[in-house]
Amino acid sequence: SSYRRPGSDPFFSRGSGRVPAGIGRRRSRIVVTGGAGFVGSHLVDKLIARGDDVIVIDNFFTGRKENVMHHFGNPRFELVRHDVVEPILLEVDQIYHLACPASPVHYKYNPTNVMGTLNMLGLAKRIGAKFLLTSTSEVYGDPLEHPQKETYWGHVNPIGVRSCYDEGKRTAETLTMDYHRGAGVEVRIARIFNTYGPRMCLDDGRVVSNFVAQAIRKQPLTVYGDGKQTRSFQYVSDLVNGLMALMEGEHVGPFNLGNPGEFTMLELAQVVKETIDSSARIEFRPNTADDPHKRKPDISKAKDLLNWEPRVSLREGLPLMVTDFQNRILNEDEGKGN
Ligand code: NAD
Ligand code: UDP
Ligand code: UDP
Repeated sequence: SSYRRPGSDPFFSRGSGRVPAGIGRRRSRIVVTGGAGFVGSHLVDKLIARGDDVIVIDNFFTGRKENVMHHFGNPRFELVRHDVVEPILLEVDQIYHLACPASPVHYKYNPTNVMGTLNMLGLAKRIGAKFLLTSTSEVYGDPLEHPQKETYWGHVNPIGVRSCYDEGKRTAETLTMDYHRGAGVEVRIARIFNTYGPRMCLDDGRVVSNFVAQAIRKQPLTVYGDGKQTRSFQYVSDLVNGLMALMEGEHVGPFNLGNPGEFTMLELAQVVKETIDSSARIEFRPNTADDPHKRKPDISKAKDLLNWEPRVSLREGLPLMVTDFQNRILNEDEGKGN
């Protein structure tokens, strides 16, 4: 194909970015869109620790400078305030595309999934970079197949309140495969299941952050509906390992990346009580429209082809986010002059 490759700086690997790990591994230049967000910032930590050069592109829609501040002053780290809905010119080896208004509170308003993904694919095509899309389990909608395999096409309402997110990601997957087939871009697709950990947005309405913050603030845990709907919760370090294995591996995907341990929201509330405050009360609230009844990844494909599986259980992972939440809630209270 005829697309241009970046210049000839011998320090950096080129094109496929397929570089051997360990001693003698060449530094890659990597863009992480949404790198100031929850998942992105943990990915950045790991890439910097591995010795790579990292450029974060973020418009701070839901992300925070605080998540990456510890890299300021490191010459291998760069933070660019930019909205991926606008074109950008860069020269890199790999693009991890995470930018997305990811929470129910924010995702209704934004064309990032379509326009942002198109721009990052255009960038990947021009410079011959490898492109990884962080898609979501939401592409399966309210699934009629359980657990969900990558071969399942999903059960999604195209005009519902969640459609901007799930249909947006489905379109992003389509664009990714079109650029792969049509323009020869080397692509990877991850379908991420519910993930939690330190630096998660405090007030974006996700169930884990809600329950943990509520328990710390001594407020009742709000269970929506009857609380019998299920989700599978993955600790963020497991996800980051999965994303990197996918990027460095040989397979396009899509791959489910999630923890198959399945919990009802009532069970989750119980684990949060055991972890933070056994006296916390539960309060039932009406559920949102189109809420999927159950969700659990089948991860056999990632196990077989990426040699990846999660290692951190919910009971091990939840305590690891409590101190971070406590500190941030304390700072917030101090900010309010309480
Ligand atoms: P997050 O909100 O913490 O991170 C998203 C980041 O993207 C934020 O820093 C935000 O400021 C940035 N962003 C949003 N729109 C942008 C734009 N137009 N231009 C530049 N930056 C923009 O969310 P997260 O949980 O870290 O999610 C990261 C990715 O993983 C998202 O693509 C999300 O859809 C996907 N994902 C996450 C989960 C999960 O449980 N956390 C589950 C499924 C998929
Ligand atoms: N693009 C970008 N940076 C680049 C190359 C492309 O932001 O280095 C954007 C470009 O502005 C366009 C999108 O990516 O909106 C798709 O680019 P492509 O070249 O595939 O499509 P075309 O511009 O030919 O329609
Ligand atoms: N949920 C809940 N209490 C809350 C927030 C969410 O019971 O305070 C429920 C929500 O109705 C859904 C599940 O928890 O059934 C997971 O919601 P979340 O928004 O975290 O993730 P998603 O629905 O995207 O999987």
